[in-house]
Amino acid sequence: MKDVKNSKVIIVGAGVSGSYLGYLLASNDINVIIIEKSKDVKKDSGIVSNRIFNFIKIDDSLIKQKIKRMKIYFGDNAFNITSKKPFAIILNRKNFGRYLRKKAIDSGAKIIFDEIVGLRIRNKEIEAIGIKNRYRGKLIVGADGANSIIRKCLGISSPKLYLGFLCNYIEKNKNRNENIFVFHNKRYSKRFFAWKIEANKELGMITELVDCKKSIDNFISDIKKENEIIVKERHYHLIPFGTTKSYGSKSILLGDACGQVKPLTGGGIVYSLICAKGAMKVIKEFLEKNDEKIIKSYEDMWKREIGHEIWFQEKLRDFYERLAQRDIEKITRKIKELHFNEFDYDISIDIAKKIFLQTPKKDLIELAPLFFKYFLC
Ligand SMILES: Cc1cc2nc3c(=O)[nH]c(=O)nc-3n(C[C@H](O)[C@H](O)[C@H](O)COP(=O)(O)OP(=O)(O)OC[C@H]3O[C@@H](n4cnc5c(N)ncnc54)[C@H](O)[C@@H]3O)c2cc1C
Repeated sequence: MKDVKNSKVIIVGAGVSGSYLGYLLASNDINVIIIEKSKDVKKDSGIVSNRIFNFIKIDDSLIKQKIKRMKIYFGDNAFNITSKKPFAIILNRKNFGRYLRKKAIDSGAKIIFDEIVGLRIRNKEIEAIGIKNRYRGKLIVGADGANSIIRKCLGISSPKLYLGFLCNYIEKNKNRNENIFVFHNKRYSKRFFAWKIEANKELGMITELVDCKKSIDNFISDIKKENEIIVKERHYHLIPFGTTKSYGSKSILLGDACGQVKPLTGGGIVYSLICAKGAMKVIKEFLEKNDEKIIKSYEDMWKREIGHEIWFQEKLRDFYERLAQRDIEKITRKIKELHFNEFDYDISIDIAKKIFLQTPKKDLIELAPLFFKYFLC
């Protein structure tokens, strides 16, 4: 017979979103347990905008590199984006994941290692069924990633899922360098891109699940033509694109579980923190008033903050997906170098506006028919 563990709030998943929400709730004296299936923390590229500093104290030991420059390839064309002030940072990602879990524990949350396999909604409470124990609470949070079991149990349909691939490499005859390269090439992905981050000694890519092995092989063999590298430690995760409904009876979804991710880059760390703050306020009010209607306001709240940006970024990705490779190259040949004093890495409308203003008028006129062709057809 499994033990029953009680708490006010049950969070499933101690990734960025679950750990941060656990920390916020416990800091507000709300009794919370976090159920996590893995002792290890997730590895991703760890690139985040400076907004991260609005949410949590990040000391230098968690920062690998401050980013002032990226080289973006579209086929064989490339241009640099540079900024006087750093526009993003690379986190020491594993340490950051551990740091968030520790912050949650230090503020009073309890992390229990178990895997949730089912959910039972009762009259006055909700019960999560784990492999080891059962957990009862007033509300459950599915912060359990792109393949969320909580989302499935609530009958909420899945966002579109893509493959996020990472591997580390050893590069012969090269001193450590600080470059970040982003490669757009339809042989790697029709919709997304691949990258090389030298500070992480990392190659990565987001690609369609169909034919993903071929896409990864294409990318790695292209990299090997230019660099003498040995690939090691491959990691595969799912990445969601497009948002889903984010609440149900006595439950909410947070982070990758409901697609709170930037469609342009696949980045979800900062969005998770933004949405966790909203979730904390809603959960607090729900527990005080015990009124189910309050849960719905969570979705309105986070959509007000990031909904328009997700919408715009999806449109840009749709546009890119429909562009033929020759048209992409035609457009990007016009971009030589983009230099800004500073910009917000999370706000693509801001970046698009800056690119528009920096492109000479005669080039804009020349490219106008292409934009009409893709936007109108
Ligand atoms: C290759 C790659 C590169 C990326 N690079 C970046 C980047 O540079 N910048 C950025 O901002 N974002 C990046 N992301 C996205 C980022 O990893 C996520 O958006 C972010 O970590 C938020 O995740 P989360 O906490 O919602 O989910 P996750 O990080 O997936 O955490 C979910 C947690 O739930 C646990 N779990 C799952 N199921 C269960 C279960 N049934 N029971 C108990 N526990 C469970 C998992 O073990 C995990 O710890 C990248 C993603 C990938 C795949």
